[in-house]
Amino acid sequence: MPDSGLVARLRDRMPFLRWSFLRFAAGVRHVERTGQVGDGREIALRDHVLAHAMAGDPASVLATIDGFARNRSILMNVGDEKGTILDAAIGRAAPKLLLELGAYCGYSAVRTGRLLPEGARLVSVEANAANAEIARAVIAHAGLSNRITVVVGMIGDGGQTVRTLSEEHGFTAGALDFVFIDHMKTAYLSDLRTILATGWLHPDSVVVADNVKVPGAPDYLRYMRENEGTTWRTVEHSTHLEYQSLLKDLVLESTYIG
Ligand code: MG
Repeated sequence: MPDSGLVARLRDRMPFLRWSFLRFAAGVRHVERTGQVGDGREIALRDHVLAHAMAGDPASVLATIDGFARNRSILMNVGDEKGTILDAAIGRAAPKLLLELGAYCGYSAVRTGRLLPEGARLVSVEANAANAEIARAVIAHAGLSNRITVVVGMIGDGGQTVRTLSEEHGFTAGALDFVFIDHMKTAYLSDLRTILATGWLHPDSVVVADNVKVPGAPDYLRYMRENEGTTWRTVEHSTHLEYQSLLKDLVLESTYIG
C-alpha cells in the first residue's frame, strides 16, 4: 500500500487519472463556448472560498483556491507555479493601471491585487457574466474590491468594452502599464492589436500571456517572435500547465518598445 505522500505526488504528476480532469477535458468545448466547464465547479469554488478562506486575507483565498483545484475540481486558473511568474512580472513593472483579459473565478485578480500599492487599479474584463459575479465575490472576500473592478465584456465586441474602459475606467492614451492575457486563446493576438490601436500602452508597458503553449496561442507566439527587438522585447518563461507537472506550458512576458 503506497503512503499518501506518494499518492499525492502521483496525482500531481498525472492529473489525467483524476475524474475532475477528465470531466474538464470533456468540457473543453463547453469552456470555449461559455467560459465555464459546465458541471457547476465555478459556483462550487465560490461557495468553498466563502466557507473556508479567511475573509480579508488574499493569501488564504489563493491557498484555498489552489487546494480546491488540486484536490477537488481542476480549474483553469494560472495556478501557484505560473502565478509566481506573474507576481515577478508585476514586481518588475510596478504598474498603476492594469488590465486583465479573462477573470474566470478571480484567482489571478486576487494574486495581482494583493501586490498593488495604494492607488493602483486592476480592471478585469470577463465575457461570462456568471464568472464575473463569482470573481467579484472571491475578490470581495479577499478584501480587494477597492482596487479591482470586473467588467463584463470582450475587447473584440466591436468597441463597446473599449469605450467602457476609456470612458468609465480611466483608460486614456499611455495610461495602461500592465496587461495579463488569459482568456480565449484565439483572441490573444486580435485583442492585443485592438489594445495597440487604442494607444493605451506606453513604452515599457508589460504584457504577460498565459497558456501560450497549452492550450496554445500559436499566432500570438509567432507575432512576438517576429517583432522581437523592434516593437516588443519578450521573455519566454518555460513552465508547466496549472496544477500538474507533466504538461509543459509557456508564459510570455513582453515589454512594449513603442
Ligand atoms: Mg490560463
